[in-house]
Amino acid sequence: MGKRKNRLSADEYVEGILAGNRVILSRAITLVESSLVSDQQLAEEVVNRIMPHTGNSLRIGITGVPGVGKSTFIESFGHLVVEQGDKLAVLAVDPSSQKTRGSILGDKTRMEQLSHDSRAFIRPTPAGAALGGVSAKTRESMLLCEAAGFNVIFIETVGVGQSEIMVKGMVDFFLLLMLSGAGDELQGIKKGIIEIADAIAITKADGENVDAAKKAKREYSNALHLFPLNDNGWSPQVKVCSAMTKDGLPEIWSMIQKYESSMRTNGYLEKNRSNQRVNWFYEHARYLLESRFFHQSEVKSSLIDMLAQIKNGEKSSISVARYLVDYFLKDIPND
Ligand code: GDP
Repeated sequence: MGKRKNRLSADEYVEGILAGNRVILSRAITLVESSLVSDQQLAEEVVNRIMPHTGNSLRIGITGVPGVGKSTFIESFGHLVVEQGDKLAVLAVDPSSQKTRGSILGDKTRMEQLSHDSRAFIRPTPAGAALGGVSAKTRESMLLCEAAGFNVIFIETVGVGQSEIMVKGMVDFFLLLMLSGAGDELQGIKKGIIEIADAIAITKADGENVDAAKKAKREYSNALHLFPLNDNGWSPQVKVCSAMTKDGLPEIWSMIQKYESSMRTNGYLEKNRSNQRVNWFYEHARYLLESRFFHQSEVKSSLIDMLAQIKNGEKSSISVARYLVDYFLKDIPND
């Protein structure tokens, strides 16, 4: 009962969000993150109702391996953004938290100053969901932030795998942070991630590290030239910066603004978002089907024995999958 008491009505969520009420925005994101079916229905209603008030932001994905300086960068870069009059929301995606129940991104001391700045809203990682779930929740949280008046959104990921591709599918601009003096492999950066970056920023270009950062910039610039030009006419750029001295940060912001204005002019920004909406539909349909399947009580209870039989080799994975899916869809004609 405690849980339900914390819920507001759809009207209260919608009105609070549209009025820019941060407490209600936070509670709406908690609602979106909930896995309770009743919460999901309420969340869907809230998201559908705020949809006409979304889309008025610049959506930026920021990624890089642990230690590259993401939170320090977001702290300094975010400060620069809000100083220029924008309202910034920062959302984090951290799939590692599912496995370890700990989190690479989630500790409380990150972005200390920005989290106390009334022009910024920082929301840590949704914990404990499958990647499909994280994706749905992050996208919906982003829309709630837009409806609450945030016009720049950062979505932060850890830079080691699949979640970057997912985030690329919901942002306008994708920024990859890299260290100098360590190869991609050493940094655990997958090749595919470099290919989807709209820009690379070499971090920690201060003190003794400046020369190494400049050298890395040349190397990555050369490497990027080997990729075919993007279909939007943008050639990915490489910058150096220091979140500590703030050098290079204004250049990165003006590059992103230039990108935004040229992509608005040539129609790519809207075209990309409209493709993203279509992909969102496919992704969400798959997610809904999958969660209905795995939550169905008969499927859930049969699965325990069947997984044991799959494990010891008694039953084949594909036959069990087919059997359970057929069972789940037994009242639906198979065509
Ligand atoms: P994250 O794991 O990617 O979020 O990285 P952090 O922001 O926590 O930074 C990792 C370490 O790098 C910390 O010790 C930071 O103090 C240091 N660091 C971050 N940015 C800079 C920078 O611009 N210059 C220098 N010299 N160190 C930095």
